[in-house]
Amino acid sequence: MQSVPRVRIAPSPTGYFHVGTGRTALFNWLFARRHGGTFVLRIEDTDTARNRPEHVEGIMSSLRWLGLGWDEGPFLQSERGELYRRAIDVLVGKGAVYACDCTPADIQERARLRGGPPGYDGFCRDRGLEATSGRMLRFRTPRDGSVSFTDLVRGNPTFPLAAIEDFGVRKSNGEPLFILANVVDDADMAISHVIRGDDHTSNTPKYALLWEALGYGQLPVFAHLPLINNAQGKKLSKRRDKVAVEDFRDDGYLAEAMVNYLALLGWSPGDDREILPLEEMVAEFDLGDVKSSPAIFDERKLASVNSQYLRKMTPEELVERSGLWLRSRWEPLAPLVQERARTLAEVFSMVEFLYRSEPVIDQAEWDKALRKNAKFASVLEAAAETLAGAEWDVEGVHAALSAAGDKAGVANLRDSQAPVRLAVTGRAVGPPLMESLVQLGRDKTLARIQAGLARAKEAALSG
Ligand code: GLU
Repeated sequence: MQSVPRVRIAPSPTGYFHVGTGRTALFNWLFARRHGGTFVLRIEDTDTARNRPEHVEGIMSSLRWLGLGWDEGPFLQSERGELYRRAIDVLVGKGAVYACDCTPADIQERARLRGGPPGYDGFCRDRGLEATSGRMLRFRTPRDGSVSFTDLVRGNPTFPLAAIEDFGVRKSNGEPLFILANVVDDADMAISHVIRGDDHTSNTPKYALLWEALGYGQLPVFAHLPLINNAQGKKLSKRRDKVAVEDFRDDGYLAEAMVNYLALLGWSPGDDREILPLEEMVAEFDLGDVKSSPAIFDERKLASVNSQYLRKMTPEELVERSGLWLRSRWEPLAPLVQERARTLAEVFSMVEFLYRSEPVIDQAEWDKALRKNAKFASVLEAAAETLAGAEWDVEGVHAALSAAGDKAGVANLRDSQAPVRLAVTGRAVGPPLMESLVQLGRDKTLARIQAGLARAKEAALSG
């Protein structure tokens, strides 16, 4: 091992900060701290169709909340295009890549035929096309032999080259593909250990081929961290499971408990200790102790770790910490609540919906609204749809609610807001709806709208 390692966390700003990214960041951070190394933050935002700048802020605030400060960066790949262009020139100069104009449909069709004619791999081949703009560039993968690399978690996997397609390195619009930018940056940033999720293991043979073609010398050491499954043993998924670190923060988990629990997703100190403060983890962390079998993310287990941290506090600390949390949740709504409340007790009832796992529905108001508005359920149905794809800010939510009103055939915004307000906050009045939904967050808003819809339908059946 090099005496001073350099590691990185390289998230793509395509969504919320996933607990898996939190675990990867933590293992990199622990490894760097343990060995006096450097922890780099790199934002992999080359996929312009999928990246959103606001997620970069979310990545940084989640890392800060977890206490995983970085020593260098953030470096944005979107600002490093020149470096990738130069690397592509090197590959072109060496004849390591060729132009290709296969469409996704061509590739799909060939994949369908794969396994039909014996020996047919369905991969793209060099057809001698000129490298004009509008054509992608593919790496010419040798057909014979194999590629292997050092992996501290998975042993040293070997991949036969015959199974690796001629992968793309540059898109037809000239943008570098993920694998190219990933390799060029690791070389440029002198990364010694690539510690990342197991979902990237299959990219690593391509990584190794590119690394060699670009003449970068000795390959970094890899550590592919185990997959994370949910409590039912299925791969954690954004759709099904709660996976955003921000959501755990908003639900009142402590950062130190979260970090402690994340560390146990694949690693253990070698005995049955489960509660380990960060300093102890730094002293004991070893990539060689990381298991390769999938880890289980179980919120009940996290809650149990969290409760142990809560119990260790003094009552004064508990009051202080929960006060900070309560405050952070409703503070953004304060100027709006101020305009409407007459007492502190009313302030509380206006923001209470932010803290409950389910809203307390004012039944009299609910029945009244349902009676007055024949489109009540249709509005909720339409809002569930439009809000699911909305930009999660005041303008985006406003546009989605107007669209829902149009869809449901409701003339004014008031009538389309009332059902949503009741379903989400439980009340007929409160701070402005858009700001309230933005603060509550998309997932909770959608879950409450669905529950409200079920309730409205039930009422229709029984009434
Ligand atoms: N940008 C990749 C991701 O978010 C990480 C790549 C890497 O760590 O090498 O999955």
